[in-house]
Amino acid sequence: MSSPVPALTSHFADAFPELSAPSRAWQTPEPRLLHLNAALATELGLDEDWLRSADGVRFLTGEAPGPDARPVAQGYAGHQFGGYSPRLGDGRALLLGELTAPGAGRADDADAARDVAGATSTPDLTALRDLHLKGSGLTPFSREGSDGLAAVGPMLRELVVSEALHALGIPTTRALAVVATGRTVRRQRPLPGAVLARIADSHLRVGTFQYAAALVEGGHAPEDLVPRLVAESLARHHADRVDADVPALALLEAVVAAQADLTARWMLVGFVHGVMNTDNVTISGQSIDFGPCAFLDAFDPRAVFSSIDRQGRYAYGAQPQIALWNLNRLAEALLPHLAADPNDAVAAATAALEGFAPAFDAAWQSGLAAKLGVPRTRASDDVAARLLGLLAEARADWTTFWTDLADVVPGPSPTPGTPAGLPDSAGVRAWREDWLALAPDPERMRAVNPRHIPRNRPLQEALDAAEGGDLAPVERILAAVRDPFTPRPDAVDLALPSGADERPFVTFC
Ligand code: AMP
Ligand code: MG
Ligand code: MG
Repeated sequence: MSSPVPALTSHFADAFPELSAPSRAWQTPEPRLLHLNAALATELGLDEDWLRSADGVRFLTGEAPGPDARPVAQGYAGHQFGGYSPRLGDGRALLLGELTAPGAGRADDADAARDVAGATSTPDLTALRDLHLKGSGLTPFSREGSDGLAAVGPMLRELVVSEALHALGIPTTRALAVVATGRTVRRQRPLPGAVLARIADSHLRVGTFQYAAALVEGGHAPEDLVPRLVAESLARHHADRVDADVPALALLEAVVAAQADLTARWMLVGFVHGVMNTDNVTISGQSIDFGPCAFLDAFDPRAVFSSIDRQGRYAYGAQPQIALWNLNRLAEALLPHLAADPNDAVAAATAALEGFAPAFDAAWQSGLAAKLGVPRTRASDDVAARLLGLLAEARADWTTFWTDLADVVPGPSPTPGTPAGLPDSAGVRAWREDWLALAPDPERMRAVNPRHIPRNRPLQEALDAAEGGDLAPVERILAAVRDPFTPRPDAVDLALPSGADERPFVTFC
């Protein structure tokens, strides 16, 4: 039997000392496992029973990461609500090391055979998975007055929301575990503390490139830092482009495509990220950082939930333009590496960034067509566009509208009704006829339109209960959002909008 302690590599720490500050997780007074993501543990080849043991829990809090681990806090910069912070970095997070996902990235059996034979081959970077902790104590990047800690409620929120996105097929970082620390965290009021163990394809961000470019420009890092980061990003996340003539340009194009697709996918399920700062935009195209995020109830492009987003910078409908704004910041960091001549570099960056709109549009329109149960055509684009206007006007609930719409398709006993949340008006009736003329497939609709999303109010109530020690409501919501397409009698509150008379929902980070 091999040791159950997972082997962690220190690939990032070794390859990027300029971006890494060695650090240790704090001791936790009384660690208690609140949730272990058993499916993810299995995917990673980890021993679930051991992770639940006292030693396993101390591994998950970072207190006993194994003899070979070299935990580091990662440095990055970031535009936060438009304002630039040159040295941000992880003030409360640690990269514990990388796990190697079993079977991941193996192109064919020949590769596997070579591994078995023990032949030395270049490490397969696509198989690396970051094991990252949030709330594990102060780091060299922590800012004055911060505590390096996290609370039970927000860490469970990250678990629930990321599991929901994952179940909906949306690329995302994932929670492996949430452990209560037994330490009190001081916020507006004292809160129970927690550590989140997070798995990501990497934690490379737009902000990582901004930080690296600034280090080089200031003479604090070697000239090759950005090209090495580019090579790393391509090898880990966009391996089909590693041999590109201009690697930085290939990377920019790949990240533009990945973020355009991600933003469209979020919006198709009504997700509002809430804090799309450049440090929260991954190079992998995975969703990250679930602070003030929320799901739409009423469809409204201007919907904002975050208490700190007073200008609506990160509103639901603003997400494509802010994603593109963030990608512009990536392009700036890469500019010296896009072409030898500065004018050529600007032209190349501009062309790559111009790829965002068509990529977003393709993902958004084909996603809407799928939600409508029809193949994407010019006619489906037109039907979708008219529908969005009707939904916004009626402030219809985004999720129930779509799940109910499948029932409007006449079956053996035709009951053509008014789709949920829309008025029985001439405009809606005309729209329904035009949509039905496209011959929608209700089964296809039921496979893409989720019934259960982490509705804001039930989720908040469940997090409040968890804070008081009752985890059952969070477990119920997790079970439902991991199974989003099947009607469940125990999850009616996640399928239905909250009452119209309630105050607007506000999130805090
Ligand atoms: P976020 O808004 O979660 O992306 O965090 C922005 C920055 O603030 C990151 O550098 C975090 O590491 C840092 N940060 C957030 N909360 C804390 C905390 N409690 N202690 C130290 N740093 C924090
Ligand atoms: Mg963040
Ligand atoms: Mg955050």
